[in-house]
Amino acid sequence: MAVSVTFWGVRGSIPCCSAEYTEYGGNTSCIQVTLDDKTVIFDAGSGLRMLGNRLVEQKTTDITLLISHTHWDHVCGFPFFTPIFEKKSNIGIYAPFQQSGQSAQEIFSLLMSAPFFPLPLQAIPSVLHFHNFKASDKFSLFDGQIDVQTIPLTHPNGAAGYRLTYKNKSISYISDYEHAPTLSDKLINFIKGSDLMIYDAMYTPEEYKRFPGWGHSTWEQAGLLTQAADIKKTALFHHAPSHTDACMRQIEQQAQAMDARLFAAKENLTLTL
Ligand SMILES: [Zn+2]
Ligand SMILES: [Zn+2]
Repeated sequence: MAVSVTFWGVRGSIPCCSAEYTEYGGNTSCIQVTLDDKTVIFDAGSGLRMLGNRLVEQKTTDITLLISHTHWDHVCGFPFFTPIFEKKSNIGIYAPFQQSGQSAQEIFSLLMSAPFFPLPLQAIPSVLHFHNFKASDKFSLFDGQIDVQTIPLTHPNGAAGYRLTYKNKSISYISDYEHAPTLSDKLINFIKGSDLMIYDAMYTPEEYKRFPGWGHSTWEQAGLLTQAADIKKTALFHHAPSHTDACMRQIEQQAQAMDARLFAAKENLTLTL
């Protein structure tokens, strides 16, 4: 049995491409979870492009995309995801209901429509299955082999957090999320005992004071939640575009001084659980 997680995009807000981002990476949200022969992906940010090329090389045809929400940094890789251009691909796309009332299919159609993109969604040769759910719903993937729990996250326009359980392993994905002044018992229960939590740590505690209401959290909150919910390992994720490699090294050091279970997610890093 093998469960592994590979980070293909760890940045928040917008891809960052200069030399100051080569160590931690500049692509936006995209995480591949491999559960034996099954492939599940959290979010379709710009990191999805490289992952798509890898999946085509490996001839992976059954793919599930779990979308936290449809802000640009979480969907901009989708039109460049090469498996969608392969006839044999069978792609499930799960997204929480939008506050606007639009379905996942409507949002992805909008993303791939003029004047934003030249090729409409209907012209894509792969088979796409869209699923909308209410953040708090539970469902399963791959004929019941993977359990998925979801939770609503505090974020402008809404977002969903996920917890995947496969055999005896659990992975929680909590991005984008703005923490409350006190730790949320609901969230603690949701993530409790996860083997890996991937957490929105966009701001330092000092920066957060300037951005209340912007929908993001801090590495310090990641540490408090890790301790309260007995998490085995926590990846700080959704790094701010202003956080260069030098800045990220400092953040990671401070976070590890608080709790050695914290580490900063880096593009191309693979963890085996
Ligand atoms: Zn984001
Ligand atoms: Zn967002």
